[in-house]
Amino acid sequence: MSEAYSKEDEIAILDMINKWVDNEVRPIAQTYDQADKYPFELVEQMKELGLFGATISQDYGGMGLPASIYAKIVIKVASAWMAPGGIFNSHLIQASAIERCGTEEQKSRFLPRMVTGELRGGIALTEPNAGSDLQAIKTVAIRDGDDYIINGAKTWITNSLNGNSLAVLVKTDTEIEPRHKGTSMFLVETKDENGEFLPGIEVIKMKKLGYKAIDTCEVVFTDFRVPAENLIGGVEGKGFIQAVGGLELGRINVAARGAGIAQGAMELAVRYAQERETFGKAICNHQAIQLKLGEMASKVEASRLLIEQAALKYDSGERCDMEAGMAKYFSSETGVFCANEAMRIFGGYSYSCEYEIERYYRDAMLMCIGEGTNEFQRMIIAKQLIERNKV
Ligand SMILES: Cc1cc2nc3c(=O)[nH]c(=O)nc-3n(C[C@H](O)[C@H](O)[C@H](O)COP(=O)(O)OP(=O)(O)OC[C@H]3O[C@@H](n4cnc5c(N)ncnc54)[C@H](O)[C@@H]3O)c2cc1C
Repeated sequence: MSEAYSKEDEIAILDMINKWVDNEVRPIAQTYDQADKYPFELVEQMKELGLFGATISQDYGGMGLPASIYAKIVIKVASAWMAPGGIFNSHLIQASAIERCGTEEQKSRFLPRMVTGELRGGIALTEPNAGSDLQAIKTVAIRDGDDYIINGAKTWITNSLNGNSLAVLVKTDTEIEPRHKGTSMFLVETKDENGEFLPGIEVIKMKKLGYKAIDTCEVVFTDFRVPAENLIGGVEGKGFIQAVGGLELGRINVAARGAGIAQGAMELAVRYAQERETFGKAICNHQAIQLKLGEMASKVEASRLLIEQAALKYDSGERCDMEAGMAKYFSSETGVFCANEAMRIFGGYSYSCEYEIERYYRDAMLMCIGEGTNEFQRMIIAKQLIERNKV
C-alpha cells in the first residue's frame, strides 16, 4: 500500500537511486552479464537502500512507495542494466501477494522479513505446459495433517536459486470447474537456516539468451512439505485470483523495465553517433541516423507518459488494466525497437561484446513475454475498449 510522498521526497529518493546505479550497477553490468555471474554485492546494497521493501506498506517496515515513484526507480535501473531489477521486482510481486491476500498473521510473519531481504524470492506460476494458460497447471498440493504435500515442476522461476522463498501456484482440486476454483497459492520457504534447500525441492539453473547473471530456474517439488498455515489467505481455491490480482502493478513494472532498456539503448546510440565518423563527419550528421534517433526519442517519451498515466491511475485506486496493458505493450515493444535501432547505429561494433549495446538487444525481448505476453496485452486493451464504448 502506498504512503504520501512529497515532490521533495521523490527527488531525494531518485537522486539516491541515480547515484547507486551510476556508481555501482552500471560499472559491473557488462562483465557480470558476460560471465553470467550473480551480483551478490548488489543484493546487499539493495537491502541497505530499502529496495526489498520499496512497495511494502510502512505498517510492516517498508517504504510504501507509490507505483509512480517505483516505476521511475525501475526505469533508471533498467537503463543501466535490466537484469538486477528482477531481483527486487519479482520479490515485490511475491510480497504484494501476501500483502493483498494474506491473513493478518501471514502479513506480520512474512512482510517484515521480506522488507529487510532476510526472506526474498519470487513467484512460481509457470510450468512446462502452462504459461499464458495458468489454469492448466499440474503441480498439486494435497492436505496431510498440518501440512500440504506438493508435487510437480515449475519452470522459468526467477530468484529461485539465490532467494529463499517463493509464492507457488498449485492445484488443490484437479476436478472442479471452473478450473481456477481448484487453484491455491502457498508461501514456500525453500531453504533451512544454513541456506541449504529443504528436502523435496530441486532447483536447476536454466541457460538463457539474455537477462543473464540473474537466476532463472526449473523448480521440482517431490513430496515437498509446506505448513498449512502458509496457504495464502488461509482458504483453498483463491490461487488464480491471487496470482492475476497483482498483474496491473506487475505490468507497470515490466513497462518500466522496457522503457529503461529503450532509454539506455538510446543514450548509448546518441553518444556513439557523435563519436563515430564516416565520410568526414560524425554519423549523427547523416539524415538516416537522425531519423532513427528522432523516432527512438519520441517513443521513449511516449513510453514514460503511458507508464506515468497507468501508475497514477493505479495509485488512485482506479481500475487500470487497459492503461497498464497499453504501457506494458508499448514500452516493451519500444525497448525492442530502440535496442534494434541502436544495433544498426553501432554497425559492426554492435556485434562486439566489448560494447554494451548487444546486451540491451538480448535483454529487450523478455519484456514482451513476461507478465502476460504482448499478444494478451492487445487483447486486454481491445476488450476494455469495447467494454468502455458499448453501442
Ligand atoms: C527469463 C524468463 C523469466 C521468467 N520468470 C518467471 C517467473 O519468475 N515466474 C513465473 O511464473 N514465470 C516466469 N517466466 C515465464 C513467463 O511468464 C512465461 O514464459 C509467459 O507467461 C508465457 O508463457 P509461455 O512461455 O508458456 O508461452 P505460451 O503460453 O505457450 O504462449 C506461446 C505464444 O502463444 C500466444 N498465445 C497463447 N495463448 C494465446 C491465446 N489464447 N490467444 C492468442 N495468443 C496466444 C502467446 O502470446 C505466445 O506468443 C519467465 C520467463 C522467462 C523467459
